[in-house]
Amino acid sequence: MSDHRSWAEPYKIKMVEPIRMTTREHREAANRAAGYNTFLLASDDVYIDLLTDSGTSAMSEYQWAGLMLGDEAYAGSRSFYHLVDAVREVYGYEELVPTHQGRGAEHILSQILISPGDVVPGNMYFTTTKFHQEHAGGTFVDVIIDEAHDPASTHPFKGNVDLAKLQAVIDEHGAGKIPYISVETNVNMAGGQPLSMANLRAVHELCHRHDILVMLDATRALENAWFIQQREEGYAGKSVGEILREICSYTDGATMSSKKDNLVNIGGFLALRDPDLARRARALLVAFEGLHTYGGMSGRDMEALARGMREMVATDDHIRARIGQVHYLGGLINDAGIATVQPIGGHAVFIDAAAVVPHLPQDQFPAQALTAAIYVDSGVRGMERGVVSAGRDPVTGDHHYPKLELVRLTIPRRVYTQAHMDVVAESVAAVYERREQIKGLRFTYEPPELRFFQATFEEIG
Ligand SMILES: *Cc1c(COP(=O)(O)O)cnc(C)c1O
Repeated sequence: MSDHRSWAEPYKIKMVEPIRMTTREHREAANRAAGYNTFLLASDDVYIDLLTDSGTSAMSEYQWAGLMLGDEAYAGSRSFYHLVDAVREVYGYEELVPTHQGRGAEHILSQILISPGDVVPGNMYFTTTKFHQEHAGGTFVDVIIDEAHDPASTHPFKGNVDLAKLQAVIDEHGAGKIPYISVETNVNMAGGQPLSMANLRAVHELCHRHDILVMLDATRALENAWFIQQREEGYAGKSVGEILREICSYTDGATMSSKKDNLVNIGGFLALRDPDLARRARALLVAFEGLHTYGGMSGRDMEALARGMREMVATDDHIRARIGQVHYLGGLINDAGIATVQPIGGHAVFIDAAAVVPHLPQDQFPAQALTAAIYVDSGVRGMERGVVSAGRDPVTGDHHYPKLELVRLTIPRRVYTQAHMDVVAESVAAVYERREQIKGLRFTYEPPELRFFQATFEEIG
């Protein structure tokens, strides 16, 4: 007899939110009304919502109970001090600067450290992070390893910093022009791919030799810790909580979107070691976010956040099930013969739309069309990550043509069951069977900025 044992979600369900499977006719009408753009669908028309894992987590009974205990004092809220204790314990940073969400922390950090003309290296860009670096007068330079840009590469740590690229940036611009390197954990735009502890340690050594700070984008650091435990030599016997603290130990501070790893629907923070830097951050915080003991969160938000943060590392079961579910879905889709970014990452499955609908040229928006087709088939909502998201070149006015034309199916934490994943995979496979019938799209409205959010389309022919 095999000693194989299935694992299951490490929770049982106490409160349910009904969802509704609609008719195909209803979805066809909703899709047309939304202009083939899943961002424009009403969530009531969606059956299984895989648009994003940002702010969509289910909270635990302990977190919900914490909402009732939130201290709404304007200054010195008890819930703020709970949050300070949790950040010290879970991440190991002494100084906490609370913000309304991740981009609030990125804004404050960029403003206190970047001067016009500075250069900020990072392991692949993230939209809001890069925006705030440039808004402060800096220039982002990508120093991620080449494998990150290759969807077929099975490198176990595609989020790694290329140390030679980083050294070249230092040689070219001089360390004086580089206030910090922004190191992202489980790199979102690469498909949720981790960096290794050995790589982070080497980045830390190189940067400190040149007096360059290391700032972590810790948004998905827990997911990264799980991959280190699974893949990096010497970490199999350590808990994800221990690994997470070691990650942070090689950095001088972190920005955090608590809407991801931390299991809350809103919140974030900037964490630092240097008290002087923290003082400068707090001086700006009062102008842009709120007083330094709430920074844009209510007392109950901070209470739920402090609890979610502790809960995510209390045992390894949570993260095993979270990433296990993503890999379960990815495995089903791959088993149906459908290509995805490899290896399957920590938060989403990225379907290779260019391979699924090769009859559509990139300027007919293959990933946008495939995303809409999946919605019409089953009410499953994903999002486009391809030419529509990439936008236009401001100089030539042509589309940017990214190498990757992807449909992203992102899994919210603790929200759906394995049965929901089965339904999603069946729908993707059914659409794949009929892929020749998927038609190209053209714009009926194209916004000038961040067009993917609000653009509308119609079918060609
Ligand atoms: C979501 C995210 C952010 C921005 O956080 P918000 O809370 O949405 O402002 C920054 N970095 C990464 C890696 C993210 O995934």
